[in-house]
Amino acid sequence: MTNDRRGFLKKSAAFTLGAVAAQALGSANLNELEHISESIQQLSAEAAIFTLPELPYAYEALEPIIDKQTMEIHHSRHHKAYVDNLNKALDGKNNTRSIEDILSTVSKEDKAVRNNGGGHYNHSLFWMLMKPNPENKTNPATGKIAEAINSSFGSFDEFKKQFSEAGMKRFGSGWAWLYAENKKLKIGSTPNQDNPLMDNAEIKGAPLLALDVWEHAYYLKHQNKRADYVNNWWALVNWDKVNEFYEKV
Ligand code: MN
Repeated sequence: MTNDRRGFLKKSAAFTLGAVAAQALGSANLNELEHISESIQQLSAEAAIFTLPELPYAYEALEPIIDKQTMEIHHSRHHKAYVDNLNKALDGKNNTRSIEDILSTVSKEDKAVRNNGGGHYNHSLFWMLMKPNPENKTNPATGKIAEAINSSFGSFDEFKKQFSEAGMKRFGSGWAWLYAENKKLKIGSTPNQDNPLMDNAEIKGAPLLALDVWEHAYYLKHQNKRADYVNNWWALVNWDKVNEFYEKV
């Protein structure tokens, strides 16, 4: 969706640039040329901006496990701020790289790109990795990832225990991860908005499952009880999506 959107922006920008250039050839007016130059710069900038992805479900869809207000604030304010601040941090740099590409060499970027680029990527992933479960049914892993989890960690319960602990033990704000390093499944956590795609992260690999353990993800409903949030969150995991990511490893 994001790629389609960017492709569309690039195409429309290129089309408009062509029209503007044709117009400029017939014009000797200096003010007009300056105006055209500004338009070109603006269009180039627009071609590379990141946008807030829509949620694949309604704000209230994850209730009773995650409440509507938390989802609304988390998506429309926190995630939006990461997107806006990432675009600000990249302003004037003529960015044409994907977010994954930027993160792979993020040690060379400003701290603002690390924090906000990570924030944009992590949240985009997090929304996809959940799906509604209004009746709060048990939700064990399915498909190939279920087999890989069993062979890597002994059992699904043992995997859940280790992943939940990674989220619980992360001091302050951060994320818990299931990721693949050289095709091997691993569990870990990162501080702030770091993730395993970053060249300077504590853990490195392909993200498969992510859990946001920042207080903003759970404080309205669970206050300081991170364990309640983590334990309940398992009912929301979209295992089809985890399998999709696992197939690409
Ligand atoms: Mn968050």
